[in-house]
Amino acid sequence: MNNLSFDNRFINNLPADAQTENDCRSVENAAYSFVTPFKTIAPHLITVTQPLAAQLGFSNDDIESLQFTQVMTGNDLLPGMQSYALCYGGHQFGQWAGQLGDGRAINLGELVTSTLGYQTLQLKGAGKTPYSRHADGMAVLRSSIREFLCSEAMFHLGVPTTRALSLSLTGEQVLRDKMYDGNAAYEPCAIVCRVSSSFLRFGSFQLPASRGDETLLTQLVQHCIKTDFPHLLSEDREFSTHVYLNWFSEICDRTSDLIVHWMRVGFVHGVMNTDNMSIIGETIDYGPYGWIDNFDLNWTPNSSDAQEKRYRFGNQSQISQWNLFQLANAIFPLIGEAEPLQTILSDYAVNYQQKWCDMMAAKLGLKAYQGAADLHLFQSLEKLLLAVETDMTLFYRLLANLPDDLDLQSHSQWFALLSPCYYQQSALDDPYRQDFRAWLKRYLARLNEDGLTQSKRAKAMNQINPLYVLRNYIAQQAIELAEQGDFSEILKLQRILQNPYQEQEGNQNYARKRPDWAHQKVGCSILSCSS
Ligand code: AMP
Ligand code: MG
Repeated sequence: MNNLSFDNRFINNLPADAQTENDCRSVENAAYSFVTPFKTIAPHLITVTQPLAAQLGFSNDDIESLQFTQVMTGNDLLPGMQSYALCYGGHQFGQWAGQLGDGRAINLGELVTSTLGYQTLQLKGAGKTPYSRHADGMAVLRSSIREFLCSEAMFHLGVPTTRALSLSLTGEQVLRDKMYDGNAAYEPCAIVCRVSSSFLRFGSFQLPASRGDETLLTQLVQHCIKTDFPHLLSEDREFSTHVYLNWFSEICDRTSDLIVHWMRVGFVHGVMNTDNMSIIGETIDYGPYGWIDNFDLNWTPNSSDAQEKRYRFGNQSQISQWNLFQLANAIFPLIGEAEPLQTILSDYAVNYQQKWCDMMAAKLGLKAYQGAADLHLFQSLEKLLLAVETDMTLFYRLLANLPDDLDLQSHSQWFALLSPCYYQQSALDDPYRQDFRAWLKRYLARLNEDGLTQSKRAKAMNQINPLYVLRNYIAQQAIELAEQGDFSEILKLQRILQNPYQEQEGNQNYARKRPDWAHQKVGCSILSCSS
């Protein structure tokens, strides 16, 4: 690992917390605090994302070395690494929460790679920092498995995300009240090594803005532009209002791309607080997230949000705009006028809608979105999918098999084709079948206009409609085995989720709809923030 080169631009360019004791405190005029990861008692590497490791410059021998396990569990630092925790704030469930920060995530440094540029390595669950507030700085195995598997699943689905390099046990146990119901129990601790070119969040800019610290705010914005948005700078490398507005505009653009991807694959983040919104538009902080089984715009897996459902599946675009509005407020001092920011924010809704329509057209195998009639087709489909419990993932895969010469008069033909995606066959009553047939008629007519052959259409559809997603119950099964010391299911899922769009011989079980037993099971359809 001696050939790895670190260039820690964040800590070299931005002000550090002057105090170095590791006690919880308010950290002002500083972007981060130096901290040392907690020494773990019995580190054990469960798995590594081999291709990512290779891209980062780790050889197979490196990965197998004891030193790699020690570094991935916070017991050792490689030459050039310097460990630190970021200071940030955020709005949680709509309320300003003040300083939050990396309460259990510790950055190890910025690795300079030949294929991925600068990549920061970060250990999640590596012990207390000045931002831990009343918590212990640890992460439990179940939430670490969920983060590890889902980050990589998202990557292979083509959704922007922080990556996960390794998953390890630390040997410690901590007490957690998993469902906040008074039933606390000891759980094994784990560490995920996350990787991203930036771990800055909307809240990183909100905190100095909330304190009136324009100096730090400007330093952070300029650093972010220089390192992650360098194309926005002209040759003279000067900053101006124009550059800041372009930066904000690109953040909006990346955020709308991200949410459209989430809607495409059926991902519900669950905690879209502004401290969980990546400035570079990646999915970040996998907590009580969930995957849509039956298409339900009102669903949220997060039990802490069960009443308000602020972060429900169908509300993710509105919330992202609300979050961007908070970011706009934070950077306002650098712009000095509200109007250009407001224009970008109102364009956001329009751009989102356009991207969503393009995405829906692609999901349905249309060559391109063609305006109001198509929008009506999408909206009526959503109504049908909501009317009876329909598995979203399976529905689009099965729809790709629809023959061009489908006999609409015969209900049994299309019904036989689609039946595996329905949760309750008995709900498919006559009126529903009539409505569905009417929709199919319009859809087939629309396909006919495009004139693609069924096989071409199916091929295109199967490239954007995944077959294998990390269904909640599937992750839960891997967790339950891992908690008994059997990690085989994690390794198996790691492999399956690398090819989410391709049918995999022998893995049909992983593409099935949610079994009945998982419908109301904790961990499968209901999760808390406890992690
Ligand atoms: P989250 O809801 O996971 O995004 O976390 C919100 C805030 O709480 C962040 O500042 C986290 O770093 C912090 N946090 C969450 N869990 C822990 C923990 N076990 N120990 C310390 N800080 C934590
Ligand atoms: Mg967070």
